[in-house]
Amino acid sequence: MRKICNQCQTEMIDDCKVNVQGGMNGIKISQKKGLFNSVSSNPKASVCPNCGYVAFYIDNFRDFIK
Ligand SMILES: [Zn+2]
Repeated sequence: MRKICNQCQTEMIDDCKVNVQGGMNGIKISQKKGLFNSVSSNPKASVCPNCGYVAFYIDNFRDFIK
């Protein structure tokens, strides 16, 4: 899945790892689904090699529901 930079329309570099500096864990995105279920994912980042813009995304976005 190709991503284009929002700022300059350059093709972005996918699959960059996200880390929180000083922490043991990265960022986690989660959504509660009902009482006992939840879905969560560690986001990845895309970096624009032209302007430095960073976009976060997750692979299993289809598990998240409105
Ligand atoms: Zn850019």
